[in-house]
Amino acid sequence: MKLIFLGPPGAGKGTLAAQAVRMLRIPHISTGAIFRSAIGAQSPLGIKVAAIIGAGKLVDDATTIALVQERLAQEDARTGYILDGFPRTIPQAQALAGFSVVDRVINFDLSDAAVVERLTGRRVCRNCGVNYHILFNAPKREGVCDSCGGELLIRDDDREGAIHKRLQVYRDQTAPLIDFYRAQGLLVDVDARPPADTVAAYFKRAAGLD
Ligand code: ADP
Ligand code: ADP
Ligand code: ZN
Repeated sequence: MKLIFLGPPGAGKGTLAAQAVRMLRIPHISTGAIFRSAIGAQSPLGIKVAAIIGAGKLVDDATTIALVQERLAQEDARTGYILDGFPRTIPQAQALAGFSVVDRVINFDLSDAAVVERLTGRRVCRNCGVNYHILFNAPKREGVCDSCGGELLIRDDDREGAIHKRLQVYRDQTAPLIDFYRAQGLLVDVDARPPADTVAAYFKRAAGLD
């Protein structure tokens, strides 16, 4: 199954994708995670995108499209994948249509106020990338990852200024994809407000898995 997870930052796409890939045995491809790992490794890509991402802006389409095209060409993505955070612009969606045919687009619906609440409380393991929330999904020990013992950090772009910029970018550049995919009959809406387990149940129904 080839799925796109669409929705505002902090809607819970990454959290659900981590669960869904265990169930579906397909790779979770998060462009944000790929960029963050490049930044951590200080690779040429990481050096190019660090300031853009820290400011809550989008990496340019050409760079992002090339990255995804290359990733989808790998063997493990042949029969299915979850694309999380891509496409984020109409040109990215048009490019994707040229090299892969998606089955469904899951649209995570969440208000701006809830987005801010989720992003300001998000903590990410420096070591393994697992997500926590200080209120909604707290680690057993404050500041420490349950699964690997790594240190939990606040992402640079989860600070107040960048959050508002990201919401604006989402509205201007990414939200138009909702109509783009709805018009193709591919879009399924999922209410992202309830606790993660409930959202997971909605997702199963939306993806035709139950
Ligand atoms: P979020 O938690 O907001 O969904 P992501 O982890 O998906 O964040 O992305 C983090 C950042 O990486 C984005 O704010 C953007 O700067 C960059 N990024 C990720 N995916 C894309 C994309 N498809 N196009 C352009 N920039 C991207
Ligand atoms: P995205 O990948 O869409 O940016 P994340 O999966 O990183 O979103 O979730 C954003 C934050 O909200 C994280 O701190 C995560 O633990 C928390 N979160 C995810 N899903 C839910 C949910 N259904 N209810 C409450 N908090 C959630
Ligand atoms: Zn960890």
